[in-house]
Amino acid sequence: MAEKLTIVKVGGAVVENNDQLDQLLKDFSAINGKKVLVHGGGRRATKIASSLGIESKMVNGRRITDSAMLEVVTMVYGGLVNKNLIAKLQAEGVNAIGLTGADMNVIHSHKRPVKEVDYGFVGDVDSVDGAALRSLIEAGITPVMAPLTHDGKGNILNTNADTIASETAKALAKYYDVTLIYSFEKKGVLRNPDDDESIISKITRSDFKTYVSDGTVAGGMIPKLENAFAAIDSGVKKVNITLATAIDGNHGTIIE
Ligand code: ADP
Repeated sequence: MAEKLTIVKVGGAVVENNDQLDQLLKDFSAINGKKVLVHGGGRRATKIASSLGIESKMVNGRRITDSAMLEVVTMVYGGLVNKNLIAKLQAEGVNAIGLTGADMNVIHSHKRPVKEVDYGFVGDVDSVDGAALRSLIEAGITPVMAPLTHDGKGNILNTNADTIASETAKALAKYYDVTLIYSFEKKGVLRNPDDDESIISKITRSDFKTYVSDGTVAGGMIPKLENAFAAIDSGVKKVNITLATAIDGNHGTIIE
């Protein structure tokens, strides 16, 4: 049987909440065996952009990454957020290395084609170099991935962190028995988004379709679940969607 590997994605809101983040990093550090952390960026980029006089443009709740915003997300996600996580993990005894998709050519993407909406400098993932990540992991290093990729032509692209997590999980499923944990500020996929205790403990693809059509699952949870099912379809053993302070695999929603 393949060796176990845990990939934890930490959502944007958690990255900005010091108490939750510190707890999550402690729990992440305590996970036995090989692991990878993937982080979002959240509102930190919006705040810093606004202090630089750069306006954040959103369409349907999604960020439009123009060239000024691309500079900000590169600095904030690839620098500030990523490097602070590395320093905190080192303090927990985890020998972490921060990576964007450009580092070691780990994630190649292309600029999303313009359809109804021009999202700007946003990357859709083409490939993840699982072998490159594995070489780090086998050397005892824990990769920490920022939500940035590159197009191979010299450009960084802003990329959804949930997608980075699922694509990385898929690439590493060739070598390991992978569990992917999406951690965020809620207790799981909720039957009633206003009731924190209404956790759906297990969700199938047909449940998912029903929940989307009746509006139970909406917003950012739709692409998150699509990413989760895509990972399962490509050999990832288990996906868990759970509270950032409950990443032991026994809480939240399970997809398998
Ligand atoms: P992240 O925090 O990982 O960046 P997103 O903001 O993209 O995640 O997606 C999670 C969000 O999806 C939640 O914060 C919540 O507002 C929304 N959501 C919609 N439907 C549900 C649901 N049924 N259960 C939990 N969250 C839901």
